[in-house]
Amino acid sequence: MRIGDFEILLLNDGTFKLDGGAMFGIIPKPLWNRETPCDEKNRMVLRCNCPLIRAGRENILIDCGLGRKWNEKQRAIYEITDDHTLIADLAAHGLTPEDVTVLVHTHLHLDHAGWNTRLNENGELEPVFVNARHLVERRELDIARRPNELQRGTYLAPNIAPLDANGDFELFENQVEVVPGVTVFRTGGHTFGHCCVRIESGGQKAIFIGEMMPTTAHRHLPWVMAYDMYPLETLEAKRVLFKECLRDNALVLLDHDPHAFAVRLKEAEGGKLETIKEQ
Ligand SMILES: [Zn+2]
Repeated sequence: MRIGDFEILLLNDGTFKLDGGAMFGIIPKPLWNRETPCDEKNRMVLRCNCPLIRAGRENILIDCGLGRKWNEKQRAIYEITDDHTLIADLAAHGLTPEDVTVLVHTHLHLDHAGWNTRLNENGELEPVFVNARHLVERRELDIARRPNELQRGTYLAPNIAPLDANGDFELFENQVEVVPGVTVFRTGGHTFGHCCVRIESGGQKAIFIGEMMPTTAHRHLPWVMAYDMYPLETLEAKRVLFKECLRDNALVLLDHDPHAFAVRLKEAEGGKLETIKEQ
């Protein structure tokens, strides 16, 4: 896929499952279940989409999935398999983790920071993207270092502490331009430091919308996840981002939809939003 001068590789780290009710917050199941099936445990399938932007010599990866440091119990809870990994997807494009020059962290939750580290043969943690600048919003790292009881389950120290100890995280506040045309900007909402990524080149635009719209079903404004720490911020960020995407006919890149990586938004009758799948 291309956005002007940039090539975008649609990589993913496989699928996992989360509770459908939590994924849709206050929305009653009869509504969300109409378009999102769930299993007998009420879990829905999510994919970990991690686009990679090729920009000249830079290979800019956005998020790094679940990783594969999971024990049997965790694998069962989240239904994680080894069928498909980000590392295999990189290899399919002739790339290794060493080729990634920038890793943008939209946030540091367990399903976005997993490949920051892996276990070597001695069972020790080692960094994976050893040549990459690891960009993260300052307050996101602050919270990940000291998560409270609500946040603790999803900021896993093995994904964060080894890099933090090495001083590998490059912090920014609110917004940073990675290369001309690629900007990471804070939305908050899902987490205090949650960011999205705007990609612009040759009059075309794409936005990696992250947890502001994890799946196409989240196109409805009030369909906000119970995982969001600041749901009112999510609501307002969605309103602003959707307006921008409609105005500029931007491609919307999704982080967790199991079937769609890139969609465009369309305003249907009554102001309702529709998504049109492109990839
Ligand atoms: Zn998250």
